[in-house]
Amino acid sequence: MVQCGRCGDAVSDCNAILCSGCKKHFDYACSGITESGYRRLGAERQATWRCPGCKSPKPISNDQVMQELSNIKLTLAPMLDLLNGIREIKTELSEMKSTLLLL
Ligand SMILES: [Zn+2]
Ligand SMILES: [Zn+2]
Repeated sequence: MVQCGRCGDAVSDCNAILCSGCKKHFDYACSGITESGYRRLGAERQATWRCPGCKSPKPISNDQVMQELSNIKLTLAPMLDLLNGIREIKTELSEMKSTLLLL
């Protein structure tokens, strides 16, 4: 038996997941993963499994924020192009409309 690193409950060894970060054992209820989900990870990923506490991101630096922002900008650029395209189509449509009205 081991003790769950989060709630302190006793966990039988076969039901305890070892965190590769803090080296504590967790029961399934506290690990944030289901038993079947854990089994599906396979031995390799089970060995490197991390508890929710270890998985949560560390405070991010300004550099990372700037990096993220420029990534977002890159993702948004095509969308802005699309918006401009739609705007052009709209103008074309209203031009067509006024031409039709003249007929
Ligand atoms: Zn627990
Ligand atoms: Zn951990």
